[in-house]
Amino acid sequence: MKFVTVLIAGTEKVALLDAEAGTVRPLAGVSTMLDLIERYEALKGGLSFAGDALPLESVSLLAPMPRPPRNIICVGKNYYDHAQEFADSGFDTSAAAGASAIPDAPIVFTKAPETVVAPGAAIVLPKGLSDQIDYEAELAVIIGKAGRAIPRAEAMDYVWGYSILNDVTARDLQQRHKQWFLGKSLDTFCPMGPWAVTADEADGTGLDVKCWVSGELRQQANTAQLIFDIPTLIETISSGLTLRPGDIIATGTPAGVGLGFDPPRFLAAGDVVEVEIAGLGRLVNPVI
Ligand code: MG
Repeated sequence: MKFVTVLIAGTEKVALLDAEAGTVRPLAGVSTMLDLIERYEALKGGLSFAGDALPLESVSLLAPMPRPPRNIICVGKNYYDHAQEFADSGFDTSAAAGASAIPDAPIVFTKAPETVVAPGAAIVLPKGLSDQIDYEAELAVIIGKAGRAIPRAEAMDYVWGYSILNDVTARDLQQRHKQWFLGKSLDTFCPMGPWAVTADEADGTGLDVKCWVSGELRQQANTAQLIFDIPTLIETISSGLTLRPGDIIATGTPAGVGLGFDPPRFLAAGDVVEVEIAGLGRLVNPVI
Protein backbone atom coordinates (compact mmCIF):
# COMPACT_ATOMS: atom_id res chain seq x y z
CA MET A 1 0.00 0.00 0.00
CA LYS A 2 0.97 3.60 -0.51
CA PHE A 3 0.52 6.17 2.23
CA VAL A 4 0.89 9.92 2.28
CA THR A 5 1.02 12.52 4.99
CA VAL A 6 -1.15 15.45 3.97
CA LEU A 7 -2.34 18.76 5.30
CA ILE A 8 -6.13 19.03 5.25
CA ALA A 9 -7.55 22.30 6.56
CA GLY A 10 -4.25 22.91 8.33
CA THR A 11 -4.23 19.54 10.12
CA GLU A 12 -1.73 16.75 9.48
CA LYS A 13 -3.42 13.53 8.38
CA VAL A 14 -2.25 10.16 7.12
CA ALA A 15 -4.04 8.93 4.03
CA LEU A 16 -4.09 5.89 1.77
CA LEU A 17 -3.07 6.77 -1.77
CA ASP A 18 -4.68 5.26 -4.84
CA ALA A 19 -2.01 6.28 -7.35
CA GLU A 20 -3.96 5.06 -10.38
CA ALA A 21 -7.13 6.90 -9.43
CA GLY A 22 -5.12 9.91 -8.24
CA THR A 23 -6.96 10.04 -4.92
CA VAL A 24 -6.13 9.97 -1.22
CA ARG A 25 -8.42 8.78 1.55
CA PRO A 26 -7.64 9.92 5.11
CA LEU A 27 -7.37 7.17 7.72
CA ALA A 28 -9.52 7.22 10.83
CA GLY A 29 -7.88 6.61 14.17
CA VAL A 30 -4.31 7.08 12.95
CA SER A 31 -2.54 10.22 14.13
CA THR A 32 0.77 10.18 12.24
CA MET A 33 2.79 8.00 9.88
CA LEU A 34 4.82 6.81 12.88
CA ASP A 35 1.59 5.79 14.60
CA LEU A 36 0.61 3.85 11.46
CA ILE A 37 4.03 2.17 11.26
CA GLU A 38 3.95 1.11 14.91
CA ARG A 39 0.47 -0.43 14.61
CA TYR A 40 0.58 -1.51 10.97
CA GLU A 41 0.43 -5.28 11.53
CA ALA A 42 -2.77 -4.87 13.52
CA LEU A 43 -4.30 -2.22 11.26
CA LYS A 44 -3.42 -3.33 7.73
CA GLY A 45 -6.21 -5.89 7.31
CA GLY A 46 -8.95 -3.48 8.28
CA LEU A 47 -8.09 0.14 7.62
CA SER A 48 -10.88 2.52 8.47
CA PHE A 49 -11.37 5.87 6.83
CA ALA A 50 -12.45 9.34 7.82
CA GLY A 51 -14.57 10.45 4.90
CA ASP A 52 -14.40 9.94 1.17
CA ALA A 53 -11.45 9.85 -1.19
CA LEU A 54 -10.14 13.27 -2.22
CA PRO A 55 -8.34 14.23 -5.44
CA LEU A 56 -4.60 14.12 -4.84
CA GLU A 57 -4.26 17.62 -6.34
CA SER A 58 -6.66 19.01 -3.74
CA VAL A 59 -4.45 18.20 -0.77
CA SER A 60 -1.06 19.52 0.29
CA LEU A 61 1.53 16.75 0.56
CA LEU A 62 4.01 16.74 3.41
CA ALA A 63 6.99 14.41 3.60
CA PRO A 64 5.75 10.93 4.56
CA MET A 65 7.42 11.48 7.93
CA PRO A 66 7.56 15.28 8.25
CA ARG A 67 9.68 15.07 11.41
CA PRO A 68 11.38 11.69 11.84
CA PRO A 69 11.69 10.61 15.49
CA ARG A 70 15.47 10.87 15.37
CA ASN A 71 18.34 11.55 13.00
CA ILE A 72 18.14 10.04 9.54
CA ILE A 73 20.75 7.31 9.27
CA CYS A 74 22.68 7.71 6.02
CA VAL A 75 25.16 5.58 4.14
CA GLY A 76 28.04 7.15 2.22
CA LYS A 77 29.83 5.86 -0.87
CA ASN A 78 27.53 2.87 -1.37
CA TYR A 79 27.61 2.58 -5.18
CA TYR A 80 30.90 1.69 -6.91
CA ASP A 81 30.81 4.42 -9.55
CA HIS A 82 29.91 7.09 -7.00
CA ALA A 83 32.64 5.97 -4.58
CA GLN A 84 35.11 6.37 -7.44
CA GLU A 85 33.82 9.78 -8.56
CA PHE A 86 33.96 11.01 -4.94
CA ALA A 87 37.55 9.77 -4.53
CA ASP A 88 38.55 11.42 -7.81
CA SER A 89 36.86 14.75 -6.92
CA GLY A 90 39.29 15.77 -4.19
CA PHE A 91 36.38 16.40 -1.79
CA ASP A 92 36.63 13.09 0.05
CA THR A 93 38.26 13.45 3.47
CA SER A 94 36.85 10.15 4.73
CA ALA A 95 39.53 7.88 3.28
CA ALA A 96 43.26 7.66 4.00
CA ALA A 97 45.60 8.74 1.19
CA GLY A 98 46.14 5.88 -1.22
CA ALA A 99 43.24 3.87 0.15
CA SER A 100 40.79 2.15 -2.18
CA ALA A 101 37.82 4.28 -3.23
CA ILE A 102 35.56 1.37 -2.25
CA PRO A 103 34.88 1.20 1.50
CA ASP A 104 35.60 -2.01 3.42
CA ALA A 105 32.60 -1.45 5.70
CA PRO A 106 29.51 0.75 5.44
CA ILE A 107 30.18 4.46 6.05
CA VAL A 108 27.40 5.63 8.34
CA PHE A 109 26.54 9.22 9.24
CA THR A 110 23.34 11.08 10.06
CA LYS A 111 21.26 14.09 9.07
CA ALA A 112 19.22 16.10 11.57
CA PRO A 113 15.47 15.30 11.44
CA GLU A 114 14.71 19.01 11.03
CA THR A 115 16.23 18.89 7.51
CA VAL A 116 13.18 17.09 6.12
CA VAL A 117 10.97 19.02 3.70
CA ALA A 118 7.95 18.12 1.63
CA PRO A 119 7.62 17.21 -2.03
CA GLY A 120 7.54 20.49 -3.92
CA ALA A 121 9.13 22.45 -1.07
CA ALA A 122 12.17 24.57 -1.84
CA ILE A 123 15.76 23.53 -1.23
CA VAL A 124 17.11 26.83 0.11
CA LEU A 125 20.69 27.67 -0.84
CA PRO A 126 22.55 28.96 2.27
CA LYS A 127 23.67 32.30 0.88
CA GLY A 128 27.11 33.32 2.15
CA LEU A 129 27.77 29.96 3.79
CA SER A 130 28.26 27.62 0.84
CA ASP A 131 28.04 27.76 -2.94
CA GLN A 132 28.76 24.06 -3.39
CA ILE A 133 25.34 22.56 -2.87
CA ASP A 134 24.88 19.10 -4.35
CA TYR A 135 22.02 16.63 -4.86
CA GLU A 136 22.03 12.91 -3.98
CA ALA A 137 19.14 10.71 -5.13
CA GLU A 138 18.59 7.86 -2.68
CA LEU A 139 16.30 5.01 -1.71
CA ALA A 140 15.06 5.52 1.86
CA VAL A 141 14.29 2.42 3.92
CA ILE A 142 11.75 2.88 6.72
CA ILE A 143 12.12 0.56 9.71
CA GLY A 144 8.93 -1.01 11.07
CA LYS A 145 9.87 -2.72 14.31
CA ALA A 146 12.51 -2.49 16.97
CA GLY A 147 15.54 -4.73 16.83
CA ARG A 148 19.14 -5.02 17.93
CA ALA A 149 21.78 -7.36 16.49
CA ILE A 150 19.48 -8.19 13.57
CA PRO A 151 21.05 -10.92 11.39
CA ARG A 152 21.03 -10.17 7.68
CA ALA A 153 18.84 -13.20 7.00
CA GLU A 154 16.06 -11.62 9.07
CA ALA A 155 16.75 -7.99 8.21
CA MET A 156 14.02 -7.53 5.60
CA ASP A 157 11.41 -8.48 8.23
CA TYR A 158 12.28 -5.18 9.93
CA VAL A 159 11.61 -3.06 6.84
CA TRP A 160 8.18 -1.42 6.92
CA GLY A 161 8.48 0.41 3.65
CA TYR A 162 10.33 2.71 1.30
CA SER A 163 10.41 6.26 0.09
CA ILE A 164 12.61 8.61 -1.93
CA LEU A 165 15.06 11.00 -0.33
CA ASN A 166 17.40 13.67 -1.66
CA ASP A 167 20.48 13.81 0.59
CA VAL A 168 21.32 17.44 -0.25
CA THR A 169 24.89 18.27 0.75
CA ALA A 170 27.14 21.32 1.11
CA ARG A 171 30.38 19.84 -0.27
CA ASP A 172 32.72 22.49 1.12
CA LEU A 173 31.29 22.06 4.63
CA GLN A 174 31.45 18.29 4.29
CA GLN A 175 35.12 18.59 3.37
CA ARG A 176 36.11 21.34 5.83
CA HIS A 177 34.63 19.78 8.96
CA LYS A 178 35.73 16.19 8.20
CA GLN A 179 32.66 14.78 9.96
CA TRP A 180 29.79 15.13 7.49
CA PHE A 181 26.98 16.18 9.85
CA LEU A 182 27.14 19.95 9.29
CA GLY A 183 27.38 19.74 5.53
CA LYS A 184 24.43 17.33 5.44
CA SER A 185 22.14 19.00 7.98
CA LEU A 186 21.42 22.49 6.68
CA ASP A 187 17.77 23.52 6.81
CA THR A 188 15.73 22.08 3.88
CA PHE A 189 18.49 19.61 2.96
CA CYS A 190 16.34 16.48 3.07
CA PRO A 191 13.42 16.50 0.64
CA MET A 192 11.47 13.25 1.13
CA GLY A 193 8.47 11.66 -0.53
CA PRO A 194 6.19 11.93 -2.34
CA TRP A 195 4.81 8.95 -0.40
CA ALA A 196 5.74 5.83 1.52
CA VAL A 197 5.25 2.43 -0.09
CA THR A 198 4.97 -0.57 2.21
CA ALA A 199 7.33 -3.51 1.90
CA ASP A 200 4.39 -5.81 1.17
CA GLU A 201 3.99 -3.89 -2.12
CA ALA A 202 7.54 -2.85 -3.07
CA ASP A 203 10.85 -4.71 -3.03
CA GLY A 204 13.67 -2.23 -2.48
CA THR A 205 16.40 -4.55 -3.71
CA GLY A 206 16.10 -3.97 -7.45
CA LEU A 207 14.65 -0.55 -8.18
CA ASP A 208 15.75 1.88 -10.89
CA VAL A 209 16.88 5.23 -9.47
CA LYS A 210 17.02 8.37 -11.64
CA CYS A 211 17.72 12.02 -10.94
CA TRP A 212 17.30 15.03 -13.18
CA VAL A 213 18.49 18.58 -12.59
CA SER A 214 16.43 21.07 -14.57
CA GLY A 215 15.42 18.34 -16.98
CA GLU A 216 18.91 16.91 -17.55
CA LEU A 217 19.33 13.27 -16.49
CA ARG A 218 22.30 13.21 -14.09
CA GLN A 219 21.98 9.96 -12.13
CA GLN A 220 20.77 6.55 -13.28
CA ALA A 221 21.32 3.27 -11.44
CA ASN A 222 19.56 0.36 -9.79
CA THR A 223 19.49 -0.44 -6.07
CA ALA A 224 20.77 -3.93 -6.96
CA GLN A 225 24.12 -2.15 -7.46
CA LEU A 226 24.49 -1.13 -3.81
CA ILE A 227 27.92 -2.09 -2.45
CA PHE A 228 26.35 -2.93 0.92
CA ASP A 229 22.82 -4.20 0.39
CA ILE A 230 19.84 -3.43 2.64
CA PRO A 231 20.23 -6.56 4.84
CA THR A 232 23.94 -5.78 5.35
CA LEU A 233 23.14 -2.18 6.29
CA ILE A 234 20.50 -3.25 8.81
CA GLU A 235 22.79 -5.92 10.27
CA THR A 236 25.65 -3.44 10.58
CA ILE A 237 23.70 -0.50 11.99
CA SER A 238 21.74 -2.63 14.46
CA SER A 239 24.78 -4.54 15.69
CA GLY A 240 25.02 -2.34 18.78
CA LEU A 241 22.30 0.25 18.28
CA THR A 242 18.64 -0.64 18.61
CA LEU A 243 16.75 0.27 15.46
CA ARG A 244 13.27 1.58 16.16
CA PRO A 245 10.03 1.99 14.21
CA GLY A 246 10.20 5.09 12.05
CA ASP A 247 13.97 5.04 11.71
CA ILE A 248 14.98 5.97 8.18
CA ILE A 249 18.05 4.60 6.44
CA ALA A 250 19.19 6.52 3.36
CA THR A 251 21.02 3.86 1.37
CA GLY A 252 23.48 6.02 -0.59
CA THR A 253 23.56 7.75 -3.94
CA PRO A 254 24.77 6.57 -7.36
CA ALA A 255 27.28 8.31 -9.62
CA GLY A 256 26.35 11.55 -11.33
CA VAL A 257 26.27 14.02 -8.45
CA GLY A 258 27.49 17.55 -9.15
CA LEU A 259 30.96 17.03 -7.71
CA GLY A 260 31.55 14.18 -10.14
CA PHE A 261 31.71 16.61 -13.07
CA ASP A 262 34.84 18.51 -14.08
CA PRO A 263 34.31 21.30 -13.30
CA PRO A 264 31.70 20.43 -10.66
CA ARG A 265 28.09 21.33 -11.43
CA PHE A 266 26.50 22.41 -8.18
CA LEU A 267 22.89 23.51 -7.72
CA ALA A 268 21.89 27.07 -8.52
CA ALA A 269 18.79 29.11 -7.77
CA GLY A 270 16.12 28.29 -10.33
CA ASP A 271 17.14 24.64 -10.70
CA VAL A 272 14.59 21.90 -10.17
CA VAL A 273 15.73 18.53 -8.81
CA GLU A 274 13.61 15.49 -9.66
CA VAL A 275 14.29 12.06 -8.21
CA GLU A 276 12.36 9.04 -9.45
CA ILE A 277 12.50 5.49 -8.11
CA ALA A 278 10.52 2.81 -9.90
CA GLY A 279 7.28 2.15 -8.04
CA LEU A 280 7.93 4.83 -5.44
CA GLY A 281 6.98 7.93 -7.40
CA ARG A 282 8.85 11.10 -8.26
CA LEU A 283 10.13 13.67 -5.78
CA VAL A 284 10.39 17.18 -7.24
CA ASN A 285 11.93 20.16 -5.43
CA PRO A 286 12.90 23.61 -6.69
CA VAL A 287 16.10 25.31 -5.61
CA ILE A 288 15.93 28.90 -4.39
MG1 MG B 1 24.02 10.44 0.54
